[in-house]
Amino acid sequence: MATIRLKPGADRAMLRGHPWIFAGALADEPSDVVPGDTVEITAADGTWLARGAWSPSSHIRIRVWTRNRDEPVDAGWIQRRLEQSVAWRVRLGLVGPGLACRLVFGESDGLPGLVVDRYDHTVVCQFSAVGMERWKPVVAEALSGLEGVVSVFERSDIPSRRYEGLEPMTGLLAGREPKGPVEIREGDCRYRVDVRAGHKTGFYLDQRVNRGLVAGWAAGRRMLNAFSYTGAFGIAALRAGAAHVVQVDSSGPALNLARDQASLNDIDPARCECVEADVGQYLRRCRDAARTFDLVVLDPPKFAETKTQVEGACRAYKDINLLALKLLAPGGLLFTFSCSGHISPDLFHKVVASAGVDARRSARIVGWMDQPADHPVGLEFPESRYLKGLIVAAD
Ligand code: SAH
Repeated sequence: MATIRLKPGADRAMLRGHPWIFAGALADEPSDVVPGDTVEITAADGTWLARGAWSPSSHIRIRVWTRNRDEPVDAGWIQRRLEQSVAWRVRLGLVGPGLACRLVFGESDGLPGLVVDRYDHTVVCQFSAVGMERWKPVVAEALSGLEGVVSVFERSDIPSRRYEGLEPMTGLLAGREPKGPVEIREGDCRYRVDVRAGHKTGFYLDQRVNRGLVAGWAAGRRMLNAFSYTGAFGIAALRAGAAHVVQVDSSGPALNLARDQASLNDIDPARCECVEADVGQYLRRCRDAARTFDLVVLDPPKFAETKTQVEGACRAYKDINLLALKLLAPGGLLFTFSCSGHISPDLFHKVVASAGVDARRSARIVGWMDQPADHPVGLEFPESRYLKGLIVAAD
């Protein structure tokens, strides 16, 4: 096994537990190590530190597998980490017939470069690093052995794979080909998940708890679900007695599923209006028509993919939040989110506050929202904290 030596002092973050080693931390770069190989990592003085996966084309050159010298990185090790990860979701009560959750959340679960979501009997995986790519057959076999699993499907069609020198890949890894959308239940609601072509692995599992929160405020209210995707927030609200919901998204296929979900959940289509539009334009149209809502959910895509995009993203968040606050009826509530890891909760708070000032709306924060327990945050891996939200109540 090749040994990679770090520069003096470059081991601090890693020693504290951070799972990434950047190119700048390496004393030298080997030329003969195959991408994805496991390498030994030592401090500048030669002290053994860890084992990790070698990723020569990424600026994250090594993803740490283990800091325990007695732990060989082999199939048994991958299987044990997977079992631990799954055991946590079982403890959370999120594994069972018809249920859906994230089984593995990459680095935060000690499995860098791997995301696994489970939708009832279908498991969907995403391999985002060349080190984990190597273990795909082992991962697929372990997942297909989980109780009740019928299909293991791959959705490694994420742009970040190119930094690892990997092509996008999708398809069946084990078991039976999934036929049509997979049906899951979340609380009182049923959803159809398109694991083959839907966003991410098919569904936004990270909003499960927040959908419940919104539902708790929904009875009798008129709601705007902006960036609705397949309408899950809206369906949860309607099942909880919302009077009417407008689901707005720019994706036609997502809205088709949103319409399906309404009938699947015995909701009168007259209570669920689906609008294919740009949210910014739709909000402006509502403003110009003096239309108001009692509840607004704003769950946009990641506006800041990189640090350099933070400033522009803040302007975009401010713009939609300002418009949304203006549309709130007296006593209305805004549930506003950011899933950009580069935007901290404090910064997001500031952006929403300045939107409130400019909207001339007297309002206060009455709740903070977060990512759920099946999307854990590694203690020394703040990069894994990405989802944040505020509940803002207007006068
Ligand atoms: N709230 C959803 C997830 C939203 S993901 C849920 O709980 O399932 C973000 C969504 O925003 C995607 O469906 C994407 O199609 C949509 N989107 C992105 N840019 C948009 C825009 N400018 N206008 C409308 N929708 C947009």
